[in-house]
This record gives sequence, structure tokens and C-alpha cells, in this order.
Amino acid sequence: MLEGLDPEQREVATALGGPVCVLAGAGTGKTRALTHRIAYGVRAGVLAPASVLAVTFTNRAAGEMRGRLRQLGAAGVQARTFHSAALRQLQYFWPKAIGGEPPRLLDRKIQLVAEAAARCRIRLDRNELRDVTGEIEWSKVTRTTPEDYPAVLAKSGRDAPRDPAETARVYALYEQLKRDRSVIDFEDVLLLTVGVLQDRPDVADTVRRQYQHFVVDEYQDVSPLQQRLLELWLGDRESLCVVGDASQTIYSFTGATPDHLLDFRLRHPGATVIKLVRDYRSTPQVVHLANGLLGQARGRAAEHRLELVSQREAGPEPVYTEYADEPAEAEGTARHIRELLDSGLPASEIAVLYRINAQSEVYEQALADAGVPYQLRGAERFFERPEVREAGVALRGAARAGGNDTLLDGAGDLPSQVRAVLTSRGWTTEPPAGSGAVRERWESLAALVRLAEDFGRARPDATLADLVAELDERANAQHAPTVEGVTLASLHAAKGLEWDAVFLAGLTDGMMPITHAKTPEQVEEERRLLYVGVTRARRFLTLSWALARSPGGRAGRRPSRFLDGLRPGSGAAGGRRPGGGGGVERGAGARSRKRRGPVRCRVCGRTLTDPGEMKLMRCEGCPSDLDEGLYERLREWRAERAKELGQPAYCVFTDKTLMAIAEAVPDDEAGLARISGVGARKLDRFGTEVLVLCAGEELPASAGDTAGDEDGVAGGGIDEGPGDGPEGTGDEGAAEDVTTAVTEEAGK
Ligand code: ATP
Ligand code: MG
Repeated sequence: MLEGLDPEQREVATALGGPVCVLAGAGTGKTRALTHRIAYGVRAGVLAPASVLAVTFTNRAAGEMRGRLRQLGAAGVQARTFHSAALRQLQYFWPKAIGGEPPRLLDRKIQLVAEAAARCRIRLDRNELRDVTGEIEWSKVTRTTPEDYPAVLAKSGRDAPRDPAETARVYALYEQLKRDRSVIDFEDVLLLTVGVLQDRPDVADTVRRQYQHFVVDEYQDVSPLQQRLLELWLGDRESLCVVGDASQTIYSFTGATPDHLLDFRLRHPGATVIKLVRDYRSTPQVVHLANGLLGQARGRAAEHRLELVSQREAGPEPVYTEYADEPAEAEGTARHIRELLDSGLPASEIAVLYRINAQSEVYEQALADAGVPYQLRGAERFFERPEVREAGVALRGAARAGGNDTLLDGAGDLPSQVRAVLTSRGWTTEPPAGSGAVRERWESLAALVRLAEDFGRARPDATLADLVAELDERANAQHAPTVEGVTLASLHAAKGLEWDAVFLAGLTDGMMPITHAKTPEQVEEERRLLYVGVTRARRFLTLSWALARSPGGRAGRRPSRFLDGLRPGSGAAGGRRPGGGGGVERGAGARSRKRRGPVRCRVCGRTLTDPGEMKLMRCEGCPSDLDEGLYERLREWRAERAKELGQPAYCVFTDKTLMAIAEAVPDDEAGLARISGVGARKLDRFGTEVLVLCAGEELPASAGDTAGDEDGVAGGGIDEGPGDGPEGTGDEGAAEDVTTAVTEEAGK
């Protein structure tokens, strides 16, 4: 159990008695030390699995932690977010502590906030509504009442997004409406649990008898409310281990503060404080940049920074690339990703990270155009899909019937049994033709089959009942199975994770730091966000920015100020320079000097900036001269092709590109090549067939008979979030502990 740990990590794992605080930088093995500590304690017989509560930041992290604990032989330990642990306790104690049925949990509070605003006769547009919702959430996690809100806000030094008195009125009415309707929101779960534990010693006693040992990951981002809950769970006991990195505090805007981490010893004078400095995740090149970034940081978190020392072999230097415009940046990034995939790196080992979720669309387009499958983080909500729920019911039924289920006759191991049951629900070995709902349903079932296969591999002796239990666990945690695809995620959502190759995109001043970061503290938080991004990379790191938003637009942007002195050619601050020299690369468009002209609507001539409209080459609202019949034929052809290639349809062409083809009806290669989304690679693979269809001719029956094409993307990739086209950017899953509207705001 202790073999895979270095001496300091071992100290974390073996100091099972008293309070322990681990202060350490990114990639130093904090999470690893934490899981080993639990597993070691369980093995040594010091910790009873059911008496341990491990708290992590997101449901996904909790799911991963459960997986790791199981592998280390410590199944049965609860790993949850603050929110999900509290919700469970609340539901359990509600009838006894308060009486009656527990209230319903509000899905999306924004609607109720809108109603409250309307009743206060305050008109709010979508963005204002989100701002006010964010303020309400901030108030709740900082335990601020509506009456106190204006004063507390003034004291916090933050800019109010709108008149505080108005916000306070909406907040008060929103609370009233919730009470009237017996619903509670996300924050109420924590508030009510804290209330019950404070007021009812008998309930607190029961909880404390159940949980005696606590570990908390990502402790730098704990909110005052979560901290209070932790104290109530703990009582006067000392079996607590917290780990965190003040330099990765990125949720201060939700009321979180690293003070709890940094002042741990003040509250627990006997605490063992352990520092880890060996970075096991990233190459010296990546670590050098991370250290350089933190070298310029200011504020309390920065005072506690530790210089990281990479334990890995040397790797490539980080690459800095400047592009003329955003679509060019996305296309350049997609091209690099294609090269990495061609060199054998799995898609699941690659991520594109950006500051706000709205940036994803142009990357979705570019990846789709390059035939690269992707998954949007936070967009899954997999277990809520009806087909997944129905499949779960069928699997549970089969598990209950055990060997007596005729469905399972002759089915061998666990994955075969699952395939047998799901076949009865419409799963087939081959995906159905076409896209849309049928295909989506199939993709969900296929993901379940894959999940069963992975589970069977990890636990060869697992039964169907074990799998059903696992599915329930995951469903509770909203932990969708991983799909083979490049990850697209906001920097906030990337916390705690790692990939071999990371692309940090859109690093312009204005986006990083984001324009609305005004105070020095807010700017420092942005710098930490970039630090989090940099330290996600194991080996390949690319940082890019675009000088203009759209082709032909004014090139008035400059790269992020955080890269000054670090990026080649920006003047060495304090003698720091990324080693190895090398300059900033010029991406397509920037390199050619011949900047692309603006894309204009071919109907009304307006300059287009929306990526979707740019693809269509006209405004969404302008009349379309779409050849409907051709469009349908193209879609059918695409479905066939996607099926043969075992890829999502968008990897052949996106809806927008097909639409543009069916509008332009090109009659030669040059005409086809002018359509956005038809690159050289796609022209080469699909050009002839598309032109045949455009000419109104039939394709020969054998056309496209290239199944198993060596170009096929590893794993085929399931189209998890965005459906058939890249239109849907997905919503940040409200499932995660922190994905309240505030974080949506920050993450978007
Ligand atoms: P973050 O701050 O980003 O959450 P962390 O400190 O939690 O990072 P981990 O995710 O636990 O770091 O570890 C980073 C990587 O280094 C993981 O791939 C982990 O398996 C590996 N690692 C950690 N400690 C060791 C070790 N002693 N030997 C080998 N690999 C290690
Ligand atoms: Mg970690």
C-alpha cells in the first residue's frame, strides 16, 4: 500500500491519528496520498470503511476516488461531495428532525428567480437574471441574509452587478416562494443540514457515530458554509486530513477561501503539516512554466507557494502559437490534435481548455471538421436519459431473476449478459443508420455496454447485481462513463484532472484575465486559473491566442499579460525564460500575412462573426436557397459513411457544412473546397461522392466501401453531448457540487 508513495506522501498516509494538513502544489500526488491514506488505514484495521467520509470537489472526482479506493481494496468508503453527503443525511433525518416528507430539490433556480423578479416588478434579461442568481448563491454560501446583503456586499469590495437593494428584494421574495412551494435549492441542502446538526444534538450524535474519520480534497476552495458543515460533522474529534494548494484557489467568487487551509494549524494546534514538492505529473518544461507563472503571483496564496520540482523525463517545450482570428486558432488546434492522434496518442489523453464555455463552439466545429470526436465536460447528464433509465430497470430485473432469466440463457460473462439484456432494449452490434434520436439512444446503450466491459475487466468475478449497484452509484453521482474523445472543458471544470496533451486556447488579454476581473484579487484568481490549466498537462502543452475575433476583424488583441516574460520574445522578467529558446509560432493566417478577409453573408452582405453563420456563409435569418432534396440525400449519405467509419456523423460533415453544400450546390472541387468545413482531408476522402450527389446523380452501390479505414479515429468515439451537429454547447451539469449559476456564469 505504501510502496507507490514517496516519504512525505507516506507520512500523509500513515499519520492516521491526529489532524493532518497537506499543503502542496499541482501534481504532487495529494489526491493519490489521500486515497492511499484511506486504503492503508482500512488495511491496517485502524479505519472501518463505513466510518470514513471522503469529501471531494465534484461528483466526477468522487466517482474517480471510489474507483481508486476499490482498486486499492477499500471498497465501502463513502466518497462524496459536500452537497451529496449532506443531501443524503438530510433525506435520512428529515422525517425525524422536521417531520413529513423531505422537500423537493429545485432543478434550476433561475426560473424561480425570474418569477420573484417579475413579482417585484423588476425586469431582468437573461444575463441580468444570471447575475442576480449568482448574487443569491454567493449570499447563501457566505451565510448572508437578504437584509444583510447590501452591507455585506459593500464590505466585500466586490462590484455589485446591479442595485444591491433590488437584488436583496428579489432574493427575499425568492426565498419566500420556495417556502410557499416546499422546495429547496442547492444551497439549502447545506444550510438545512447545518441547521439540523446545530439544533438537534441527537441527530448530530447519530451522524458522528456513523462517520469518525474525514478527508477533504481541494480544501483551498471550501466555502464558509461547507467549512461549518465539516466542523459539525467533526465535533470535538481530530481525525481529519485536508489537502489543498492555495495557488489553485479558483472559486473565490463563490465565497470560497484558502484561509481555512492556510490557517489550519491555528484551529488545530497539534496538526501535522506536510509539504509535497515533487511533481509527478508534468515534465520539467511544463513545471518550469508553472513555476514562472506563480513567480509573478501576488497575495496571500502566493506567499505560500512552493517551487515544484518535476520528477519526469524532459519533454517538448511548451508551444506558443499566435493566430489571426478565432476560427483559425480552432482550426490550427484541431490540426495539431489530428497529428497527435495520428502519432498514436489516444483521444482521451487530449484536452482543449478555455476560460468560458461559450468558447467551446468554435472548437466543436473545428474538431468535427477535422473528423475528431470530442466530449464536452459537464454536458453529459447521462444517467438521466430515458433510455439509460429503462436499461437500468431491465438490468436490475435480470439481476434479480439471477440465472433464471431466459434472457441470460447461454450468455457467458458479465459483458455478454449485459449485451443480451440490452439487445432486448434495442441495442444492436452495429449502430443504426442515420442520426437523431434513434442514433442517440443507441449511443447511450453502447456506452452502457462499454461500461460493463470496463467493469468486467476491472472485476473479473463481478456479477450482474454488482454492475447494477455500480450503475446506481454512478447515477447518484451523475458520473457518466468516459468516452473516447478529446475533452473540451472550461478551466474551472478541469481542476484535479490531467491529460498527456493540453491545449490552452483563447489566451488573450480580456479573456485571460477575463475583462470582468477588475480588482487585484480578481486578477490574481485569473492567474491561478491559468496555473491550474498549465499544470493539467503531463507532456504536451500548447498555449494559443488569436489577434482578432473573426476573419478580417480588427487585430486589436494582445496575448495574456500573464505570459509576459514567460513567452518567447516578450522580454524576460526576472531572467525567466522558457528554456530552449524557440519563438512564438505563427498559426495559419497569422503566418501568411495575407490575412483572411471578413466572411460576409452571401444574401445581405453583412459581416458575419457568429461561427455557425460563418459556416453557413449567410445570416441565420436571411432567406435560404437550400436544395431540400439534396440536403436530405447528403444526410443519408453521411449517415451511411459515419456508420461504415464507426464515427459520429459530425466527423464526416457537420449539419452546417451539409447545409452550406446544399445551398451552394458546387459543381467542381474548387467550389466545394470554398465551403467552410471542407478541408483538404475531407475533400480528398469525400469530395468525389459529394460532387456526384450535387450533380443529382446516384452513387455507385460500392461507393464508400472503406469500412475499417485506417484513418478511423481510435475507439470510434461516441457522440456524447452535442448530438448530431456541434450546435448544442451543453449546459454545465448542475450535478456538480459547484456548478451553481455562479459557476455557470464563471464557466461560460
Ligand atoms: P492536483 O493539485 O492537480 O489535484 P495532485 O497533487 O492531487 O494534483 P495527483 O493527481 O494525486 O496530484 O497526482 C498527479 C499524478 O502523479 C498522478 O498521475 C499520480 O498517479 C502521479 N503520482 C503521484 N505520486 C506519485 C508517486 N509517488 N509515484 C509515481 N507517481 C505518482
Ligand atoms: Mg488532486
